[in-house]
Amino acid sequence: MNPPPVLYLEAVERRYIQGEATLVILHGATLAVWPGESVALIAPSGAGKSTLLHIAGLLEQPDGGEVYIGERATTKLADSERTGIRRTEIGFVYQFHHLLPEFSALENVMLPQMIRGLGKSEARTRARELLGFLGLGERLQHRPAELSGGEQQRVAIARAVANAPRILFADEPTGNLDPHTANHVFDTLARLVQATELAAVVATHNLDLAARMSRRVTLRDGQVVELG
Ligand code: ADP
Ligand code: MG
Repeated sequence: MNPPPVLYLEAVERRYIQGEATLVILHGATLAVWPGESVALIAPSGAGKSTLLHIAGLLEQPDGGEVYIGERATTKLADSERTGIRRTEIGFVYQFHHLLPEFSALENVMLPQMIRGLGKSEARTRARELLGFLGLGERLQHRPAELSGGEQQRVAIARAVANAPRILFADEPTGNLDPHTANHVFDTLARLVQATELAAVVATHNLDLAARMSRRVTLRDGQVVELG
């Protein structure tokens, strides 16, 4: 028997009311993602990629439909329960790294673990391992401003997976990087997905990078459509 999907978006609805007009962004959007899968979300600007990722990442509530994280329906949970799931099962990487500027790379990766209740030395050990795996073993004590754009994004990826989430959402994570650096960051992400049973959904405009993921989907009339 197949394992259940780690993420299941079921007929998700999202609309924004703007004065007299209603802007329909997601209309019956359905998507299942399994452990170890990497899904590229490719759609033009304004199509609703960020909206979909925010809803799937429990940062935003849909207007209809359901969001299952590992078979658990989330839309009717209390905010505190949704936050708990977000902290333990979901990782998020944005186009801008959003690292804390006063803290080292190591500390930036330790913090989410400590917020979750892990001891300092355990958090440090895991942060070191992760950053080493992502090729940043020589950059542990650097602050974000002392890192290149690609290095900052790799630290952001390490931070996003610090608590060993089941699924990682990345919203145009290489959008600000030159093609060579984007390629490197992407490889790092792909290695991470391969080395763990992590699932990833990555919004990107880069078709070369998207071609290396296990699946490609787009948004059409508010629905998720599989690409070849
Ligand atoms: P993408 O990430 O694909 O560029 P978004 O999900 O950010 O698209 O946005 C989809 C559409 O929804 C856009 O047209 C955007 O203007 C609109 N939108 C997003 N957030 C809001 C909001 N809070 N209020 C009104 N409209 C919004
Ligand atoms: Mg966006």
